[in-house]
Amino acid sequence: MTATLVLVINSGSSSIKYQLVDPVGGDAVASGLVERIGEPEGHIRHKVGERTVERRGRIADHTEGLRQVFDLFAETGQDLASAGVGAVGHRVVHGGEEFNAPTLIDDDVLAEIHRLRELAPLHMPANAAGIESARELLPDVPQVAVFDTAFFNGLPAAARTYAIDAKVAREHGIRRYGFHGTSHEFVSGRVAEILGKDPAELNQIVLHLGNGASASAIRGGRAVDTTMGLTPLEGLVMGTRSGDIDPAIFGYLQRVASMDTDSVDDLLNRNSGIKGLSGVNDFRELGELVELGDVAAKLAFDVYIHRLRRYIGAYMVELGRVDTITFTAGVGENDAVVRAAALAGLEGYGISVDEARNNAKSKVARVISPVASPVIVFVVPTNEELAIARAALRLVRNPGPS
Ligand code: ADP
Repeated sequence: MTATLVLVINSGSSSIKYQLVDPVGGDAVASGLVERIGEPEGHIRHKVGERTVERRGRIADHTEGLRQVFDLFAETGQDLASAGVGAVGHRVVHGGEEFNAPTLIDDDVLAEIHRLRELAPLHMPANAAGIESARELLPDVPQVAVFDTAFFNGLPAAARTYAIDAKVAREHGIRRYGFHGTSHEFVSGRVAEILGKDPAELNQIVLHLGNGASASAIRGGRAVDTTMGLTPLEGLVMGTRSGDIDPAIFGYLQRVASMDTDSVDDLLNRNSGIKGLSGVNDFRELGELVELGDVAAKLAFDVYIHRLRRYIGAYMVELGRVDTITFTAGVGENDAVVRAAALAGLEGYGISVDEARNNAKSKVARVISPVASPVIVFVVPTNEELAIARAALRLVRNPGPS
């Protein structure tokens, strides 16, 4: 069979993002977003090339949403049943201890994904709903789960272990899992490709700075540390998430501010980070406020950079030798001010950013360190959908031992 397209599905609690990807050429043939599933009025935006088709109306659940997406594909000339879809790749947020690689989905795998719901209660039921819907609508196409945690499944014990009562940790699966793994793997792979080297030869630091943000230390192609932990709350300061805090703040707020568990959880996940400090969570707006002399915005920026530099320093020590530092995701790919501040004053370690290269606007992978810099600094656009599509097709074509 010559089918080469992969349908990539990223299913959230009330939304489904999807792309029909050509894994060889790397292009998205079509893409779209289903929003407000389960609400009185849902919305679908479907893009094919330059053309965008929209649909409004109630979307009862994920299956109904996907069914409407399939109709839109057919209406715009791409009947998915006959378009040559070789696999459906699902982004699954948490792979727990079990999943360390893309996995062909069968009933047992789906049951295991359901079982992992407690580790990511917002995401896992939605991921499972997306899988169930796609299996129902494309029963003859292999479905593959690509886990956001998988790249970090092999973290060394010292990096993955929390220093809490070992029995409690074991009983409840409490350890550092890491997230954004698909992006960290894809971006570090691209860096090796651009340098014409085997990933095994390189020590890399990858800074995935989007709305969510995480850093990773990668030795010879294997992740040896990352900033996110049991959940995506740990580590760097993010758009709305606090990142690292003293864990005692949680209980302290419950006692002195009478906040219950959900309120504190909400505070730390949705009303903290850049937004909590400055009132805005988008770095474009933050930059404008800083330019205008807004004191809170400047503090937010400084706290963000301070945390980022702390981890860069930590990973330099962990790796011993650093060959490349790479910025990716919305902020990392676009914000030259953040990049310059993150690496300022590190010339003594062979790390610097060339001002003109850093400020040049571009959408392609590029080097922003000076010529012949000991550490090469990159900006590499991430593409999680393409990574998922490639992983899914690779597995379907070469399933390996089961
Ligand atoms: P997500 O984590 O939702 O996938 P992205 O990687 O798309 O996030 O990053 C989104 C963030 O990127 C936005 O919230 C914004 O802060 C930032 N961003 C996007 N474009 C720019 C830009 N041109 N300059 C600065 N920041 C930008």
